[in-house]
Amino acid sequence: MARRIGIMGGTFDPVHHGHLVAASEVQARFDLDEVIFVPTGVPWQKGDREVSAAEDRYLMTVVATASNPRFSVSRVDIDRKGVTYTVDTLRDLRATYPDDELFFITGADALEQILSWHRVDELFTLAHFVGVTRPGYHLKDAHLPSGSVSLIEVPAMAISSTDCRKRVAAGDPVWYLVPDGVVQYISKRGLYAPEQ
Ligand code: ATP
Ligand code: MG
Repeated sequence: MARRIGIMGGTFDPVHHGHLVAASEVQARFDLDEVIFVPTGVPWQKGDREVSAAEDRYLMTVVATASNPRFSVSRVDIDRKGVTYTVDTLRDLRATYPDDELFFITGADALEQILSWHRVDELFTLAHFVGVTRPGYHLKDAHLPSGSVSLIEVPAMAISSTDCRKRVAAGDPVWYLVPDGVVQYISKRGLYAPEQ
């Protein structure tokens, strides 16, 4: 029988409770068998700043999702050479799961950028898109092909990785914004500390 698989792409630098709540909510609402978190390779939208090593972002995502039997993490993007395009993520996962239903989960801010993505028409043939609310961003479906995107409200988590990085750099706590194991991983690896 076809399985229903969610795909949660992101830089996850670091992964935080906003990502986890969004994935959990979509898993329940869409009755997904599994949600696969996919940390990006070199993210093309983030050329303005240094992104943490893929292996660190991957491991933090593994730590954060380990306790949920429906969550898993894929290396497809970090193992592919070069910049990550969502279309490549979806093509690769489509090839791995040819008979399953794919749901690509994206926050309101990322959804707004869908129209600027490369080969947007192909994206909608590869997966159903689920746009979730995110504090500070307006979720709108204007100009999106009808039927290809579902917009849903998820519990508001005003958390961003950018803010978590700034907090660590300033010596402020990130406890309860990110899972405990991620707090410990950040500290162990000295991530986001200010330049010496
Ligand atoms: P950064 O500040 O570095 O951009 P981020 O917090 O936006 O980090 P990303 O890794 O860029 O996290 O986001 C991955 C996906 O998760 C995107 O689709 C984004 O819209 C979504 N997302 C991130 N934070 C939230 C949140 N608090 N609520 C809902 N969706 C979120
Ligand atoms: Mg972001």
